[in-house]
Amino acid sequence: MTKTVFEPDMDDVATAPDDAAARRAVAPVICYPNDSLPSADLTLYHQARKSAVKTDEVLVPARDAACFEVPAGHFFRISSVDGPQVGDLNLWNRDDLSERFYSGKTRALHGTHITTGERMWTSFPQLRPMATITHDTLGWYGIDQYGGSVHDVIGTRCDPYTGNLLAGSQYHHCCHSNLTRALADHQGVSLAKAEPHVHDVLNVFMCTGFTRDTGQYFMKASPVRPGDYLEFFAEIDLLGALSACPGGDCSAEHSSDTAACHPLLVEVYAPAADALEGWVRPQLNGYDGSHGR
Ligand SMILES: [Zn+2]
Repeated sequence: MTKTVFEPDMDDVATAPDDAAARRAVAPVICYPNDSLPSADLTLYHQARKSAVKTDEVLVPARDAACFEVPAGHFFRISSVDGPQVGDLNLWNRDDLSERFYSGKTRALHGTHITTGERMWTSFPQLRPMATITHDTLGWYGIDQYGGSVHDVIGTRCDPYTGNLLAGSQYHHCCHSNLTRALADHQGVSLAKAEPHVHDVLNVFMCTGFTRDTGQYFMKASPVRPGDYLEFFAEIDLLGALSACPGGDCSAEHSSDTAACHPLLVEVYAPAADALEGWVRPQLNGYDGSHGR
């Protein structure tokens, strides 16, 4: 019988060239050397934090999300209060939701996980620091034997669409849905209006990495314990939304009601009026926007 379907010989595509070993042996170069990034003045921030007083707090219920506002120049702290729990954090410019956290560029600039002194950067065209991490009680964790670390900017957020794709489920308390409801309620808009503003998150306290053999995204039980916290300095006026992930400590599964889940506490602190002398709000990105025309 004659073959009527064209079938390319895929084996040819995967045949290694003679110099494969030499090509693999080429040393990597860092895509974005970050020594020229405007650095955070942690000494100033830490000094200012000493005078700060708490102005607000929000308890984010387990398997749900809540919004909070942080004026520029204030601090906010996310704490584990009850038991090991990870949080999915979205941040926006409070006055312009189109300027929001840019997980991919933050990853390109700082790496897969972020800690003290590193920043959350905003989307184009602003591309500027929106929040700086000033304290991380899990800073001791480093990178473990599996290549895992905490506070990642490599995950997206658990969502009902992927759950449906993989398991045909209709689960409504994934972080994506939690963030959507919280934002809709805070802004007084419909779920349909709020949903497009929800974006890839900072996975607070979550311990993740990529497997070395297959390159797959993995999670493991978070090392976070009650009393641990991650604290930020708000570089611009912020609207935040935090979801206490249905995965709990993400040791087993998410996108269901199976895991033990706990609330997360968000606290906002205002430093004394003169404590930030020398700090300037980040300017908009300097690119002229003409794109060559
Ligand atoms: Zn989640």
